[in-house]
Amino acid sequence: MITDILKGLAITLKYFFKPKATEEWPAKPHKVSPRFRGRHFLARYSGGQERCVACYLCQKVCPAKAILIESEERPDGTRFPTRYDIDMIRCIFCGFCEDACPEDAIILGNTLEFPTKSRAEMIYNKEMLLALAPEGFDGKQSPEKDSHAPHAYQKPQNNFEGKSCGPKVEKR
Ligand code: SF4
Ligand code: SF4
Repeated sequence: MITDILKGLAITLKYFFKPKATEEWPAKPHKVSPRFRGRHFLARYSGGQERCVACYLCQKVCPAKAILIESEERPDGTRFPTRYDIDMIRCIFCGFCEDACPEDAIILGNTLEFPTKSRAEMIYNKEMLLALAPEGFDGKQSPEKDSHAPHAYQKPQNNFEGKSCGPKVEKR
């Protein structure tokens, strides 16, 4: 009996000084894997030009039908999205859109927590997604260069903490 109590106390003592596995959430944010696929953002070229060329591949490949794109053509014949919505409630964060994008325009960042008070606020429009690109994010190529060449950006983008975007959303 006494031996069992002592054994138990020894185990308690052993773990008392070990690093704690418990995470102090929400006081401290969760640590996520570098491969974590969180909230999306839309990237720009270093010159500020939007990377998205409205090819619709991400919309087509999305298994959850979470992406809605509308587009127009510029006078020079290039296309751009006039609307780019992602319904974060529908999204299953599979990363297919990022994989399919030929321009590395849609990227899944590492933001895990983005609670809202309504379903409508979970629909991210183009302006919100562009604003979420991390500070200093650089597509590593100027738009003048071959936009299909591989660029230096590779996941992980560890330091990315998405800037907060306001609750203003457009309803579909
Ligand atoms: S991560 Fe997957 S489910 Fe979410 S928008 Fe992209 S393709 Fe669709
Ligand atoms: S985000 Fe990429 S895949 Fe989607 S429409 Fe734009 S260029 Fe095409």
